[in-house]
Amino acid sequence: MGDQATILFDALVVGSGASGGWAAKRLSEAGLKVALVDAGRPQSDKNFTEHQPAFELKYRNRASEVIRRTRPIQGNVASEYNYEWFCNDLEEPYTTAANMPFTWMGRLRVTGGRTNVWGRQSYRFSDLDFKAASHDGYGEDWPLSYKDLATYYDMVEEYVGITGMPEGVYELPDGKFHPPMGLTCAEMLFRNRVKGKFGRTVTLGRSANITKPINGRAPCHYCGPCDRGCVTHSYFNSAFTTVADALRTGRCTHIPNAMVYQVLMDTDRNRAKGVRYIDRVTHEPREVQGRVVVLCAQALESVRILFNSANRQYPNGLGNSSGVLGHYLMDHIMGVGASGELPNLHSERPSLNRPHRPDGIYVIRFRNTHDGPRSKEFLRGYGFQGSGGAGLNWGAAGFGNTYKEALLEPITTFSLVGFGECIGRWDNYVEADRDVVDTFGIPVLRIHMAYGENEYALAKDMAESAAEMIEAIGGKRVRMHTQSPGPGWAIHEVGIARMGNDPKKSVLNQFQQTHDIKNLFVMDGAAFTSSACQNPTLTIMALCVRSCDYLLDQMRRGDV
Ligand SMILES: Cc1cc2nc3c(=O)[nH]c(=O)nc-3n(C[C@H](O)[C@H](O)[C@H](O)COP(=O)(O)OP(=O)(O)OC[C@H]3O[C@@H](n4cnc5c(N)ncnc54)[C@H](O)[C@@H]3O)c2cc1C
Ligand code: SF4
Repeated sequence: MGDQATILFDALVVGSGASGGWAAKRLSEAGLKVALVDAGRPQSDKNFTEHQPAFELKYRNRASEVIRRTRPIQGNVASEYNYEWFCNDLEEPYTTAANMPFTWMGRLRVTGGRTNVWGRQSYRFSDLDFKAASHDGYGEDWPLSYKDLATYYDMVEEYVGITGMPEGVYELPDGKFHPPMGLTCAEMLFRNRVKGKFGRTVTLGRSANITKPINGRAPCHYCGPCDRGCVTHSYFNSAFTTVADALRTGRCTHIPNAMVYQVLMDTDRNRAKGVRYIDRVTHEPREVQGRVVVLCAQALESVRILFNSANRQYPNGLGNSSGVLGHYLMDHIMGVGASGELPNLHSERPSLNRPHRPDGIYVIRFRNTHDGPRSKEFLRGYGFQGSGGAGLNWGAAGFGNTYKEALLEPITTFSLVGFGECIGRWDNYVEADRDVVDTFGIPVLRIHMAYGENEYALAKDMAESAAEMIEAIGGKRVRMHTQSPGPGWAIHEVGIARMGNDPKKSVLNQFQQTHDIKNLFVMDGAAFTSSACQNPTLTIMALCVRSCDYLLDQMRRGDV
């Protein structure tokens, strides 16, 4: 038992990433005594290396096999610069069902979680997403509408800082943007041609990089590698934004290196009363108590905690009277698209030392729109992230001087990578694997997931439409990329404790409160009722703040 066991906190927030950072900030700024219980080590500006050249590193950032010795899974997205921020896959494994590979990446173990390394693309959902089932008859509607979340989107965007351009498109509502980072010539051509020929909207990626100063954070100076941190705090990382604000209140206690195992229950009163965690350094079990428990550990980790908290009252996992917990796992189908060259566009001179815009373009969903024709092949839609511009011709032929000259001959390329909606299916699910424990003795997660016919039909269309658009701007040597690397690769896992009005079909209500236990909330992406095709994090944060406001109101009334 640690010292914390003697303190009764008003709220325990588990996880310090996108959602947990906001929960800690919102609740502590409202006056609650909060414990922020996080599996990660404390993060600090001292660990940021965005300006460090590769030649200063031991392996020059070229020995991915060294990283893969301890992080065979995380090594897909980690580099020599940041791999120690990720969990050691050998110490913290997971299992998958036979013939159902799932790549669980982005398991961060530092304050700020995935927001340390995320791609920052930040898009609102629309009512086409929240009411998708009403639109096409598949699945369930969310128990809330766009208008319920709009003011929270505003609030989160204003704080986070997102560069973007308003477009007035129903499928991708506009937000409160920082001045746009701008498009390259190739992208401008693409934007105009694609609008003219197909009526589709291409916009600047809406990215959580600030272009004007806010809250002591400096505008981005275009150095490029945000996934190594940022000493000027110009991208959004909860470690130096929301979590820092929470700690500044003096009412938030950060408990790092705390791997939460279980939610502790007062079964007589059907109330959560605390959490049990394993100290990552000493491997000792500890407990901390709170009047409310808010899980924000990332969808898969939060649901793992709920399964591992099963007791006599809830033998199938906490909050799982419906049996829905763990089901409807979704992750965007991604990696499918096209790329090509624009030999007739020589408008930019390539340089290694040019500014590196940490952003690209976004093609807004144009299939199965709210008022457009419906595809006979698939439900829902997809968006593209991509970029186009001039670069050095590294693939040029020849040696010596011939090669050096050819290298400087600019080559303009264009690429589009699709992110398609994954529809929720009962058969895609997770459970606690009682046969395998991690280094802390905690049962690991067993993941069963495969894409279905809808995702594959959608991906086929994605590749074809990407190629068609690149060809429309004079693209040559256009290659379609038709193979998705598989579930997990989008790193957008959502849906396994879904929200709904019917407690028989959902785990959470619209405020991410478990139907079964009033003082237990799950405020991360586990709550999503469907996945939409937009990146999830902006919606995760807006939902979390809305749910915190509900929680505060309920506590004031004495109802929680
Ligand atoms: C490389 C990469 C690129 C991405 N790009 C984008 C993008 O462009 N746009 C987008 O919208 N999303 C993107 N994402 C996803 C995005 O980062 C997540 O959706 C978001 O961070 C999820 O927030 P969260 O609060 O649920 O989890 P996280 O931000 O991961 O935070 C979870 C926290 O919980 C802690 N934790 C985990 N388990 C436990 C436990 N048992 N006990 C205690 N603490 C625990 C972790 O230490 C971590 O701090 C990307 C992710 C990665 C990895
Ligand atoms: S590109 Fe901008 S946000 Fe990213 S690390 Fe550099 S200054 Fe920071």
